[in-house]
Amino acid sequence: MRITTRIDIKSLHLDELQEKLRDLGEPAYRAAQITDWLYQKRIDAFDKMSDLPQSLREQLAREFSFDKIDIVRVLGSKDTTQKFLFRLSDGNLIESVLIPASPALYGEKSDRRTICISTQVGCAYGCKFCASGLEGFSRNLRPNEIVDQIIAVERESGEKIDNIVFMGMGEPLANFDNVLRTIRIINAPWGLGIGARHITVSTSGLVPQIKKLADEPLQIRLAVSLHGATDEVRDQIMPINRRFNIEKLLSACDYYVAHKKQRLTFEYILIAGVNDADDQANLLARHARRLSAKVNLIPYNAVEGLVWSRPSRNRQEKFLSILRDAGIAATLRREKGHDINAACGQLRLQTKREEVGTDRRAVRSRS
Ligand code: SAH
Ligand code: SF4
Repeated sequence: MRITTRIDIKSLHLDELQEKLRDLGEPAYRAAQITDWLYQKRIDAFDKMSDLPQSLREQLAREFSFDKIDIVRVLGSKDTTQKFLFRLSDGNLIESVLIPASPALYGEKSDRRTICISTQVGCAYGCKFCASGLEGFSRNLRPNEIVDQIIAVERESGEKIDNIVFMGMGEPLANFDNVLRTIRIINAPWGLGIGARHITVSTSGLVPQIKKLADEPLQIRLAVSLHGATDEVRDQIMPINRRFNIEKLLSACDYYVAHKKQRLTFEYILIAGVNDADDQANLLARHARRLSAKVNLIPYNAVEGLVWSRPSRNRQEKFLSILRDAGIAATLRREKGHDINAACGQLRLQTKREEVGTDRRAVRSRS
């Protein structure tokens, strides 16, 4: 296990690399050669950058780290949702989900291959229904660890990914600087070259950071995890609502949409008996209308050890029809990944539990 304090080469932007190379007395074009090796040819060691002088390769290896993330488990098959579990260089586990061409969920064209990526190990926000928050928060991911999820999944699956959603484990806006830095790498022509309109950040409602993101010139999309149309309901399942209640959240959203061309999306998990009543649908429609927002309804994915469940199919369709009758652009996710623990944090949790189980057995057999 290697814990390093050097910056990883894949956390830097082209202009920062140029500056670094100037400091080392190298011509600026070397920086573009390096980003070409990293993001186009996608090699995994400085030594493979064969058009750089050997001395420079050695120098880079002294100055920067070059971490890898290892795929430890893949679930699902090529034509359905696939889930990837990674082990980071410090041993922590994170996960990504590859969703094949699917109906337009976030306003993008329907033939896109979407990856859902993680931004933190665990999550500090403790939503009551979510597997990611169950074991608390460990640490923020660094930009290279977020970008590497995309590169590793493309390599493993052979698919070209053209849509990115920050909806895996963690709260992206709580890791604001690293996430923004990552988005620039994903978006840059010298990086992965994916258009800002094909990048969606999901938040549970960090009001100050929503405003900060609105002030950024990037035209990325924002999805807000609402999951309740009144404070009464939201307070029950999302502790963050006690800090930023629905009205504060909606006014941050007002600010966001005033600054961006893209429409906002409300994510709304349907949980039986908690947030699926008609009055919630009516109020949700009112919030969506205020912001010209779209609504994605997601039937709850059961998490082992948690009491929540999804409403009946009828209830789901009724909720959807109330929104549609109110003129809201709403979709109901008829999920493909249900059988492979597709909701964020679930595979990691399951693997961790298995590992703990194995350790316990090992201890027992020794004693
Ligand atoms: N922290 C951010 C992004 C990660 S969660 C956020 O909360 O928005 C991504 C989405 O998955 C959120 O909308 C979250 O509420 C949802 N989610 C979490 N657990 C789920 C489950 N068991 N079933 C369905 N969706 C779930
Ligand atoms: Fe964290 Fe999002 Fe899960 Fe809430 S839903 S615990 S904010 S990852």
